Amino acid sequence: MENKLKIYNTLTRKVEQFIPNEEGKVGMYTCGPTVYHFAHIGNLRSYIMEDLLEKTLRYIGYDVKRVMNITDVGHLSSDADTGEDKMLKGAKREHKTVMEIAKFYTDAFFADCADLNIKTPDVVESATNCISEFIHMIEGLLEKGFAYESGGNIYFDTSKLKEYYVLSNHSEEELLVGVRDDVDEDGNKRNKTDFVLWFTKSKFEDQELKWESPWGLGYPGWHIECSCISMKHLGEYMDIHCGGVDNIFPHHTNEIAQSEAYLGHKWCNYWVHVHHLNDKAGKMSKSKGEFLTVSLLKSRGYDPKVYRLFCLQSHYRKPLEFSFDALDNARAAYEKLVKRIGGLGKEGEVDREKAELYRQKFQAALCDDLNSSMALTVLYDMLKEEMSDATKYALAEDFDKVLSLDLTTAYAAMEAEAGGGVDAAMESYILEKIEERKAAKKEKNFARADEIRAELLEKGIVLEDTREGVKWKKA
Ligand code: AMP
Ligand code: ZN
Repeated sequence: MENKLKIYNTLTRKVEQFIPNEEGKVGMYTCGPTVYHFAHIGNLRSYIMEDLLEKTLRYIGYDVKRVMNITDVGHLSSDADTGEDKMLKGAKREHKTVMEIAKFYTDAFFADCADLNIKTPDVVESATNCISEFIHMIEGLLEKGFAYESGGNIYFDTSKLKEYYVLSNHSEEELLVGVRDDVDEDGNKRNKTDFVLWFTKSKFEDQELKWESPWGLGYPGWHIECSCISMKHLGEYMDIHCGGVDNIFPHHTNEIAQSEAYLGHKWCNYWVHVHHLNDKAGKMSKSKGEFLTVSLLKSRGYDPKVYRLFCLQSHYRKPLEFSFDALDNARAAYEKLVKRIGGLGKEGEVDREKAELYRQKFQAALCDDLNSSMALTVLYDMLKEEMSDATKYALAEDFDKVLSLDLTTAYAAMEAEAGGGVDAAMESYILEKIEERKAAKKEKNFARADEIRAELLEKGIVLEDTREGVKWKKA
């Protein structure tokens, strides 16, 4: 089972044999969301493919410990430490406190992950939970001469490193900075590439969350949190670090700089980056174009697993273009697939030899730099093969440990959904009551509106007021 996986390592720019630090075990870290808004489906492409990597590692027998941070402080509008804190921006937008925003969007993120069958990492830690650890690491960097104080802030001194641009070449990074920067040069920096470890001189006066530190009241920079949180839970040597390609520079470059300066040795062996989901206009972002979320897809009648399948159909190292037409194709493929599996009988013996052969093929596809579309082809081939339904069903169940498409359960759920789980008379009664409640609310007759909700609840129907209107489900 060991050493089977081959994976592209951004650090060496090669597909490499994966060899963990400790036999049979994998320490894996993922950059988590900045919780100032809903995740868009582009962000979630990264999390789906990282989930696929984790599940592949488990499938081939590794004992995986996966850690993820939640960024709830210090991530400014530009990744190059300029602009406003994203969390503060979110709080202002919604007239809430930063912590209220963080709680709401953290919950929303995990609800999206649950819809997409993305496993919650073994450890999830918020940046605001680890301030003392960040301070400790910054003190260490100051002691070792890798950091300096200037204008009240603490900066990492990139000129002290033998090599700073380790994840991609200089010109690529210059280009990235050129594209993304809304720069305001920071006159406190000694070198252009230096970055903030601790802010005390905020350009905006009203930063809500501040902590005492040896350098005054302030807050941490964004990069330090991932170095610190990963070391806290995975120790000084890490196997895999992942994120979207936009994290390569400056975020991951800075993480490597400060971690290896602090530790005095190599820190993480494999860097895995997921390419972007784009729309026709280019990279998907929260600020431009249509803000595509999982709830939006649901409100348009798409099962979130259709989006998961859409992602699995293409390779994580290729940009993926989203369109509703493409998603419709994925939906048709998904429905056909689960219908096919739902129609399998459970009778017959499991043919162990054939099952093992297909398991090997499926594993080989995933171990070939996570070739998920090839893994899906193995699934289709397996369904066409001359063998008992019981064997096919067992294999579908087994493959779904990695694919997580609800392959063996979705059909029954789909059928129940078609009728909403109730008969036609009941459905028209519910819709009538929803209209009546709407009218009552319009007339400000809230007592009647509540009564209607209670009447439906008595019949086992729960109403939900959502952004997309009133929805109902069985209690
Ligand atoms: P954020 O919440 O902005 O910190 O981003 C969360 C994750 O989504 C990071 O790993 C980003 O690299 C990734 N990401 C951002 N935009 C996209 C996109 N359009 N497609 C795929 N991944 C993305
Ligand atoms: Zn990170």
